[in-house]
Amino acid sequence: MEDAKPKLAPATSLQDIISHAKEYGFVFPSSEIYDGLQAVYDYGQNGVELKNNLKSVWWKAMTQLHDNVVGIDASIFMHPLTWKASGHVDSFNDPMIDNKDSKKRYRADQLLELKAEEYAANGQPEKGHELLLEMARLLGENDLDGVRELIISEGIVDPISKTANWTEVRQFNLMFSTQVGSVAEDSSLIYLRPETAQGIFVNFLNVQKTGRMKIPFGIAQIGKAFRNEIVARQFTFRMREFEQMEMQFFVRPGTEMEWYEKWKEARLNFHKAVGLPAEKLKFHVHEKLAHYANAAVDIEYQFPFGFREMEGIHSRTDFDLKSHQELSRKKQQYFDNDLDENGKPFGNYIPYVVETSVGADRLFLAVFCNAFTEEVVGEGETQKTRTYLKLHPALAPVKAAIFPLVRKDGLPEKAQQILKLLRSDFRVIYEERDAIGKRYTRQDLIGTPFCIAVDYQTLEDDTVTIRHRDTTEQIRMPISELKQHIGQAVSMERILEQL
Ligand code: ATP
Repeated sequence: MEDAKPKLAPATSLQDIISHAKEYGFVFPSSEIYDGLQAVYDYGQNGVELKNNLKSVWWKAMTQLHDNVVGIDASIFMHPLTWKASGHVDSFNDPMIDNKDSKKRYRADQLLELKAEEYAANGQPEKGHELLLEMARLLGENDLDGVRELIISEGIVDPISKTANWTEVRQFNLMFSTQVGSVAEDSSLIYLRPETAQGIFVNFLNVQKTGRMKIPFGIAQIGKAFRNEIVARQFTFRMREFEQMEMQFFVRPGTEMEWYEKWKEARLNFHKAVGLPAEKLKFHVHEKLAHYANAAVDIEYQFPFGFREMEGIHSRTDFDLKSHQELSRKKQQYFDNDLDENGKPFGNYIPYVVETSVGADRLFLAVFCNAFTEEVVGEGETQKTRTYLKLHPALAPVKAAIFPLVRKDGLPEKAQQILKLLRSDFRVIYEERDAIGKRYTRQDLIGTPFCIAVDYQTLEDDTVTIRHRDTTEQIRMPISELKQHIGQAVSMERILEQL
């Protein structure tokens, strides 16, 4: 019996992804004509559409599907005390270590994490677990010499020089700073925000009061964040300028674990709904908790370089609001007039916060990697590899491409009419160059779910062929049905209804 399923080509490497993203207008290195800037990337004509669609579906999932979640858009610059209160000035550090032979810099914690992964891969997960616990203990006590000794005793060598000629471990603050004010003497040091969350915390009461929000409620935001990452590699996975989609959910103290569990599930479902397969997603519970958290979990995705964090879900207690209250001397309390079990109002308190924080760029990368499909089609001499982006139609940059079969006899005009008919509803493009097969291939490569061909029969009976990207099947359809057929498939509803 012949296998009816298409055969998948060998596994995709990150390099295939980077090349495809660049060649088809998804992601370019920043300022490439000057040889680029490390860990900074630009989204091209197709990338921006895919990214905007992802941001839009996240925004809708958060603010439209929950009547107790609203959005804001806070500034990148914030009062410098914000970052004192949040703990970023004092402890937003990564431990770094240099190898004296290769002159390369590494994150000490990542070297140890890799070692733990190695243990797990060699059937010794317990040993890996112990190593992570020991690392968490040392970092928690800020025992940097201890971290260095651990690296050496584990026999960790530099992957380039292969030596263990390590410097001491130092802490490195990841925030970028700049000056505000035109005259040097008057200027003051401010930071580019390293997370969007603080813009939400400082607006907590503004939103609560003006929106008459009742706890539990959430505030969502999408925006740029900046971190001077020590080791920036793996494409858009770790950038120095990136975008976060965060939501802070304010709850009554004592109920935070219940909400933490709810948001964990809700966020995992979101990733499945945008098309990421369940087997490529997993939870990773933190061993080392950030200074603000009492519970934290990552949703990891299996990128071509392994399972890595895509989203963090943190129970942040009242840490942030409490420190803002202390430093600003402005009360950050909420009056809860719901009654407790004794029939008394819960009264004034500083809410606890459960946060969901996903990087738009990491989600983009996950969706892009997952969509990248190479299938071996045909037999014998006609066998070839078909490459296409199997994106959810609601996320695809272009929803339909319209082709006249030939560039004469009124077919281009007819195709242009269809373009006009569809373009106020969907992002559609017109394409008349090259043979039709080539035009189909070009659309496959950017993930366009539908290709509409106008031929001689169209002039007679107002029907076209519509080709579906994944099956390559073509069916004949009246022009009058196109809007509904495409609209059905590309609606964000197809994603949101799964949540
Ligand atoms: P990592 O351990 O990978 O450095 P993190 O735990 O510091 O990440 P968080 O502070 O929890 O990350 O930030 C929330 C989300 O923001 C992450 O899950 C990730 O998707 C995104 N993010 C963080 N740093 C970067 C970066 N340098 N480039 C792209 N996205 C990032």
